[in-house]
Amino acid sequence: MKLCRYDDNRIGLVRGRNVHDVSDILEALPQLRYPLPFGDQLIAHLAALREHMEELADDAVPRPVEVVRFLSPVANPSKIIGTPVNYLAHAEEARRDPQISVFHGGGQRRTIEEQGLFLKASSSLVGASEGVAVRFADRRTDHEAELGVVIGRKTGPITEADALGVVAGYAIALDMVVRGKEDRSFRKSPDTYAVLGPWLVTADELGDPGALDFTLHVNGELRQAANTREMIIGIARQISWASSVYTLYPGDIIMSGTCQGVAPVKPGDVMTVAFQRIGEMTVAVR
Ligand code: MN
Repeated sequence: MKLCRYDDNRIGLVRGRNVHDVSDILEALPQLRYPLPFGDQLIAHLAALREHMEELADDAVPRPVEVVRFLSPVANPSKIIGTPVNYLAHAEEARRDPQISVFHGGGQRRTIEEQGLFLKASSSLVGASEGVAVRFADRRTDHEAELGVVIGRKTGPITEADALGVVAGYAIALDMVVRGKEDRSFRKSPDTYAVLGPWLVTADELGDPGALDFTLHVNGELRQAANTREMIIGIARQISWASSVYTLYPGDIIMSGTCQGVAPVKPGDVMTVAFQRIGEMTVAVR
């Protein structure tokens, strides 16, 4: 199943090149009172509501994906977790270019485990159609195309063997970043610097997250291309590691690291990111 949020907070299923409105499903969510639980309520109840959503989609009038405005398929993540330099070829280019990250500042090589995971502010999250607004116009903002992993249920520490079992689904992610010397959480968290979309593909439909070709083009020019099998730390290990540090909640997002080819964008550019078995999202820079 492909789930999206679009236009004025409508919920849809994507079938082929069409969106089917299933917004009535929101009536089935529990009526919550303060204090609200962490996490995304629609993602938390996705498994239980799936059959009903498919029925609603059967009766909906389809609209072409080209005419809807895609928001992030996750509305309320408690956190966005990032995995640093998770592709060897990107680690090499980062080591050569001191602008890319503080960790390379002294030419010193540190493993992913030594660097640890990082967090992006939840308020930085947008969907494909909302676009990226460059902050610090005089500095370098880079694109990082990544596989986005959406957690499906609350979990404490879990083993690598059990990790993929807590995934609700996958989406295309852009981990946008201002290059510089400040802490990662500062440079990767301006509003719009986390893009997720265009929709979420449920884990059962996607299959193995470790075998997906992906590309990123800017204004039609190829910048990034790799396969998720080239990750240094695979998805299951990232989830297990994250769960050993943070309680994971439904809707939490892991941005699993980018490949070689990161480069600056400027207002007016258009990024197109394509992932095998997910689809393609177009994101404008302003
Ligand atoms: Mn990244």
